[in-house]
Amino acid sequence: MGQTAIIGGGVIGLGVAWELARRGERVTVFERDRVGAGASSAAAGMLCPMAELDFVEDELLALKRDSLARYPEFARALQALTDLDVQLRLEGTLSVAIDRDDAADLRRHYEHRRSLDLPVEWFSGAQVRAAEPALSPRIQAAIYVPGEGQVDNRLLVTALARAAYLAGVEIREGVEVQEILTNGGRVRGVRTSQDLPFEHVVLAAGAWSRRLGLPGFNPPVRPVRGEMIAVMMEPGDALGCVVRAPDCYLVPRADGRLLIGATSDEVGFDTRITAGGLFELLRGATETLPGVREFEVVETWAGLRPGTLDNDPILGHTAIRGLVAATGHYRNGILLLPATAHYISEAVLSGSDPDAIAGFGPRRFDR
Ligand SMILES: Cc1cc2nc3c(=O)[nH]c(=O)nc-3n(C[C@H](O)[C@H](O)[C@H](O)COP(=O)(O)OP(=O)(O)OC[C@H]3O[C@@H](n4cnc5c(N)ncnc54)[C@H](O)[C@@H]3O)c2cc1C
Repeated sequence: MGQTAIIGGGVIGLGVAWELARRGERVTVFERDRVGAGASSAAAGMLCPMAELDFVEDELLALKRDSLARYPEFARALQALTDLDVQLRLEGTLSVAIDRDDAADLRRHYEHRRSLDLPVEWFSGAQVRAAEPALSPRIQAAIYVPGEGQVDNRLLVTALARAAYLAGVEIREGVEVQEILTNGGRVRGVRTSQDLPFEHVVLAAGAWSRRLGLPGFNPPVRPVRGEMIAVMMEPGDALGCVVRAPDCYLVPRADGRLLIGATSDEVGFDTRITAGGLFELLRGATETLPGVREFEVVETWAGLRPGTLDNDPILGHTAIRGLVAATGHYRNGILLLPATAHYISEAVLSGSDPDAIAGFGPRRFDR
């Protein structure tokens, strides 16, 4: 077996590392900060391929559903190895409409999803309140999607790092890769404070991936800031499942926290938290779940989603032999983790990209 370097210790780098090590590869993860320092700890952990569906992303939908279907086994294997429960909860999601315009819009989404044969259900306002009594009485209707849900992404980072370590992966925190080294169209290693030889290199540096571009591969990844708030729910006003509202989403964790997210700002690598961002999130949240007004604020944070030119992930072999991309997961990196780990490790070991990720190859941007 060969030797692989993975650049980036987020869920994607760690997930690919663990999978490769399970298959016998020798793997080193380089993380310039600490594992999970990027978007992976900032996320809300929603697993919602259908609730998030737009009118135009059918190929990505197949990959997202594939990944969601892998989650129960993925979480079971992680727990068996690490003894950590990543709190996978698939109790379904509600996308709610607050006024009549929202309801008309939601109805169009519902018809579209039905036309794709997706398992979606239409709930009246009364049905919504029967399911989640703490939601606002103003809510007109909702789409319910069974089988979707969430995972605790911070626990996921911890579990993945432990699983990768136990499988034999060397995790080098505080070590930045400055450059990917090549020779004659083939990768030959990475440069940190020294040049280190590797047979394969996987680029999983999230929003920072573009900085490691080189002639023949220049990943068009940009940072998209997302701000979030966590409040502590009061028992009488608690929420049971993930709720997506017109101006925010609400993700109730098992420990009583409610995550409210997220803004979406194109402001480069700026991770400051703004008053305007928090205001918009709280406005959307109190409109959806009035009890939020009384909840204690326990945390605010911001992270950088790795967006791409077409907002699809960049997965698979580059024009440089031995260099594989696993980046650009934008809003869906937590959801796409099990599928990415599976298909990227397959690509590294076989030398060619599996069909399931063929549409997301880095060479699509050459055209
Ligand atoms: C507010 C917010 C909410 C989100 N909610 C969801 C959600 O509900 N569901 C979902 O599926 N997705 C969600 N996402 C998206 C998800 O978080 C990302 O798609 C995913 O975490 C990307 O993982 P990654 O490992 O590619 O990147 P990251 O987690 O950003 O990891 C990249 C790592 O690479 C390191 N690095 C960078 N450059 C170098 C270098 N040169 N050398 C060494 N290390 C380097 C960084 O320090 C970082 O730790 C959300 C994102 C945000 C910001």
